[in-house]
Amino acid sequence: MRILEAKNLRKAFRGPRGQSHQVLDGVSLALEEGEIVALLGRSGSGKSTLLRILAGLVPPDEGEVRYRGLPVRGPVPGVGMVFQSFALFPWLTVFENVELGLEARGVPKEERRRRVQEAIALIGLEGFESAYPKELSGGMRQRVGFARALVVEPDALFLDEAFSALDVLTAETLRNDLLDLWLEGAMPTRAILMVTHNIQEAVYLADRLLVLGSPGRILAERRVDLPHPRDPEGEAFRVLVEEV
Ligand code: ADP
Ligand code: MG
Repeated sequence: MRILEAKNLRKAFRGPRGQSHQVLDGVSLALEEGEIVALLGRSGSGKSTLLRILAGLVPPDEGEVRYRGLPVRGPVPGVGMVFQSFALFPWLTVFENVELGLEARGVPKEERRRRVQEAIALIGLEGFESAYPKELSGGMRQRVGFARALVVEPDALFLDEAFSALDVLTAETLRNDLLDLWLEGAMPTRAILMVTHNIQEAVYLADRLLVLGSPGRILAERRVDLPHPRDPEGEAFRVLVEEV
C-alpha cells in the first residue's frame, strides 16, 4: 500500500539579489507502507524543502504530492514531524509541549491527558511531565520532539536530521529506541521518512536510501537488504556505506 507519492516536484527560491535558485528540479518518489526511507544529500541540497512539500507545509511550484491517493492541498494531518532543533516551546512544560498538537485538533481534555501520557511513556519520558525544556538534556528534549510527533498517531513520521544535534552516544540510544518501537510495531506509524547526512545512520535504520543532489533530483536509489539488527562493523554494512 502506497502512503505517499510525489511526481516531478519543482521548487525555486529567490536569492538575496533577486536571482532564482532552483532547489528541486523534478523530484519524484514514493513512500510505501512498512518501510523506512532515508533521504541523503549534502547541506543545502533541498532535503528540508522536500520534506516540507511532502508534508503539505509548503506548496511546490510544479508537480504533485498524493497522500494515500488524494492530492495534498495543505498540511497533511497524517504526518508527524521531528526537527533537528527540537522546536519546543520553552515556556511550556514537557506535558504541555506534547499536548499542543492535540489541542490544535480539538481533542477533548480527558482524551488529551490519556494520549499525552501514552506518548510520554512510549518514548521514555515518564517522570518528566512537568519539567521545562531548559531543564532537560538534548536527548530528553528530542524525546519530547518525538512524543509531540507521535501523540497525534501519525500514519507517517518524518525526521529532519532528528539525531544530528545530539552527541554520538545519545543519538545511538535514541536511534535504537526508535528502531525497537518500529520493529515491535509499538508506534501507530506505518512508514518513516528520515532526512540525514549521516550515511551510517541511514544504512543502520533504513530499508531504502535516496540521494538528493545537484541539480535538485534524486541521483541514486539503493535498497538495504540487510535484516535488523544491523552490525555497522559487518562487511555487508561497510560495503553499502562505501557505495552510497
Ligand atoms: P537542506 O535541508 O538539504 O540543507 P534546504 O531545503 O534547507 O536544504 O535548503 C535548500 C536551499 O534552499 C538552500 O540554498 C536554502 O538557502 C534555500 N531555501 C530554503 N528555504 C528557503 C526559503 N524559505 N527562502 C529562500 N531560500 C530558501
Ligand atoms: Mg535541512
